[in-house]
Amino acid sequence: MKNILVTGGAGYIGSHVVKQLGEAKNYNITVIDNLSTGNNDAILYGNLIQEDLSDFDKIEKIFKNNKFDAIIHFAASIVVPESVENPLKYYLNNTINTTNLINLCVKYNVNKFIFSSTAAVYGDAKEIPVKETTETNPINPYGMSKLMSEKVLKDAAIAHDNFKFVILRYFNVAGADVKGRIGQSFPNATHLIKVAAQTVLGQRDHLNIFGDDFDTPDGTGIRDYIHVDDLANAHLIALEYLENNDSDIFNCGYGHGFSVKEVIDVMKKVSGNDFKVVTAPRRAGDSAQLISNNQKILNKMNWTPRYDDLELICKTALDWERKLDLKKEVV
Ligand code: UDP
Repeated sequence: MKNILVTGGAGYIGSHVVKQLGEAKNYNITVIDNLSTGNNDAILYGNLIQEDLSDFDKIEKIFKNNKFDAIIHFAASIVVPESVENPLKYYLNNTINTTNLINLCVKYNVNKFIFSSTAAVYGDAKEIPVKETTETNPINPYGMSKLMSEKVLKDAAIAHDNFKFVILRYFNVAGADVKGRIGQSFPNATHLIKVAAQTVLGQRDHLNIFGDDFDTPDGTGIRDYIHVDDLANAHLIALEYLENNDSDIFNCGYGHGFSVKEVIDVMKKVSGNDFKVVTAPRRAGDSAQLISNNQKILNKMNWTPRYDDLELICKTALDWERKLDLKKEVV
């Protein structure tokens, strides 16, 4: 059995990784989560330690009292517009807390670090699809806070021979567990597919399209939407990968994108609901297009996507939202 520490394991992506680690049956799982956006019910396997990563002394005690083989680090603030308004929250929560974790890993000999990064490190990407070697140039503090964490990881790995990392740069994560057990629970959602699902259910009066004058075929932003369980699976493969390979960076996406209007059409189709859509100004910090080149993860890590299907992504997101809606009614 391998001992795996998962920070942010009660959150959206973290909980899907914990689920897959538990189903794989050869991992002892410890979750650290402050439950600020995560949910205890989402942790289907392992033990939860409810703690905030900013409490360095308490986090160090956890490292002292356990011998972890690897860490998968999710806990972070992730909302682009919020990062523009409150950048210091992002540098503290993301870059500083990650740096502390890396420091503890080096000190306590936790030699494998899987890091949640983001396509936002590319900013207005110089080439589409985006390769891992494409120049990074974040255009918002969220992307910069992650890129700075990447740099700390790289420097730590150069300085400390045993320490290795896999950086996974996520494109747009969406959808939910196909069995409906877990999904994205954070109430003040800003991400398109969740917002669309909430609009279908009448929780919002309408959906805003943030900008229809981008340099894209229909004028709306294009993103590479990846199902959360395909993304989660990449983390388990990354753990294996580090057994016999050196540190590396991988894009996580399907290699093709959909515009906001296309996503809306699919959500309308799978829900059978023609909800109201309003064109609104662009959001600060939004790029026109982000699509991955995913050849590296397909070829080097043997990752095989199973849910590359926007209808399935929208349907699982909507099913999950319905479940949350019913829970609210019961309460
Ligand atoms: N978007 C939109 N309306 C919304 C939420 C998002 O038009 O209510 C657009 C956003 O401008 C971007 C795309 O949908 O072009 C994806 O945004 P999201 O917030 O889901 O993820 P991001 O790419 O910002 O991480």
